[in-house]
Amino acid sequence: MIEKKAVAHSQGTDMPPLVFDVDLCIGCNICVHICQVDILVPNPEEGAPPIVLYPGECWYDGSCVSACPIPGAITLTAMAGKRVRFKRKDSGEEFFT
Ligand code: SF4
Repeated sequence: MIEKKAVAHSQGTDMPPLVFDVDLCIGCNICVHICQVDILVPNPEEGAPPIVLYPGECWYDGSCVSACPIPGAITLTAMAGKRVRFKRKDSGEEFFT
C-alpha cells in the first residue's frame, strides 16, 4: 500500500536531492533511466516512486525533473546558492531546481 503524502527518500543525508509526490508519481521509472549517474532504482512496489540509493552522488542536473511526464511528481532540491534555471523544451516554461 502506497502512503499518500509527499515523501523524501533521503537514505542517510540531511538534505535529500529528490522529493517525490506519491499522489502524482505513477512509478513509470523514466527518471530512473534518464539519470546520468544512476542514483535511482525502481521501487519494488509497482506504481511507487523510485528509491534514491545514492543521494550523495546526485549531480543536480535536473534531467529527472525534465524527463518526468507528470509535473510536480519529482522535485529536485538544492541549496539556494546552487539553484539552476532550466527551460522546458516543449513549452519553454522556465523553472528552478
Ligand atoms: S518519471 Fe516522474 S512519474 Fe515517472 S517514476 Fe519518476 S517521478 Fe514518478
